[in-house]
Amino acid sequence: MKVTRAYRTELDPNRAQLAKLWQHAGVARWSYNWGLAKKKSALDEGVTPPSSYSLQLELNRLKRTTHGWLYESSKSVPQTSLDDLDVAFKNFFRGRRGSQKVGFPRFKSRKRLQAGFRLTGVIRVFDRHLQLPRLGKVRLKEAGYVPTEGAHIMSATISERAGRWYVSVTVEEEVAVPENNGTAVGLDVGVNRLATLSDGTMVLNPRPLERYRRKLTSTQRALARKRPGSRNAARLRLRLAQIHARVANLRRDHLHKLTTQLTRTKSLIVIEDLAPSLMMRNRHLARAITDAGFAELRRQLEYKAIWYGSRILVAPRFFPSTRMCSKCGALNDVPLSVRVVTCACGMTLDRDLNAALNLRAVAASCADALNACGENVRPFSEWRISEKQEPGLLRAALEDGASSTVVTDPKDFIG
Ligand SMILES: [Zn+2]
Repeated sequence: MKVTRAYRTELDPNRAQLAKLWQHAGVARWSYNWGLAKKKSALDEGVTPPSSYSLQLELNRLKRTTHGWLYESSKSVPQTSLDDLDVAFKNFFRGRRGSQKVGFPRFKSRKRLQAGFRLTGVIRVFDRHLQLPRLGKVRLKEAGYVPTEGAHIMSATISERAGRWYVSVTVEEEVAVPENNGTAVGLDVGVNRLATLSDGTMVLNPRPLERYRRKLTSTQRALARKRPGSRNAARLRLRLAQIHARVANLRRDHLHKLTTQLTRTKSLIVIEDLAPSLMMRNRHLARAITDAGFAELRRQLEYKAIWYGSRILVAPRFFPSTRMCSKCGALNDVPLSVRVVTCACGMTLDRDLNAALNLRAVAASCADALNACGENVRPFSEWRISEKQEPGLLRAALEDGASSTVVTDPKDFIG
């Protein structure tokens, strides 16, 4: 099967290349903003905004006359920026991207933390370096990570973070999908605990996150006391960007371990259709939710499921996984602060485990539908979910994996 995969690794550019990287990032930002202004004024005049293609034609005319400086960078940079802009508008008109709400596209500012651009065309990967259009051979910090054989390279996205440059190479690879004989699980993603599985496995958030968060807050405070534009302020701003980058890396790493482990060892994973925009209304929850990176977790599960022969089911948006009692099916009120849910039927269970069990039961009650459809699982919205889950099944699921396992490192997870 052909799959698209991205490999992200750090670049080790020389001085001349570094200048070129910044210049390319500048062209990307300029093209995006130029296109956005064009689209905006068209909308203001009540006409259809120009497409990426027609903007590219116009830009090529400008390039030949007034904007000759555009020749200094790879021609794929304005192209991909304008394509990205089209996607931003499409998402805006559709109202969302994945499960996230999307606002009107914004101008990219020089002061924003990240700079970046995307290249297409002739990109070659070698063991120790990458051959990029206009930039030449750029050294890689890590050798041998990006595949050099059997992969078709589609594009390279280059971005800066706290003074370091990264490349994400998108390749198309032919992979053999292994047979997955794992069990089915319900997965509840939480704020206090990263993940809870219906078999009782609990995956905690990475611990250093809290430590970095305290550092982040104190650095922010220190920065606020400095005179804007001073050398000290600039030093602290870089420090702040570095901490942000470290937190992001840590989080990404942790999520990757979890999603790899899950898709490798489970044949079916039932998750909630998380609506972070709904939950974002609660200010305190908001930070934690962005931390857990719900949307990112789902994205990773979905693409890794393809590699490892697993399947992901998304429960309907308002499926009451938390409120429902996993034993008798009754709906209870479960405030956010409550960690252990109790029900009139006598059930007492960890809040997230209860939710995970409900999700797992959804898959179990649809086992027939699954068998009937074979490989092609019907979209979840078409499935009928019985109001009352089968209590017997749920008990069994819990007793199967009776003792709950707490793991801090998803690597330790029991398949
Ligand atoms: Zn109950």
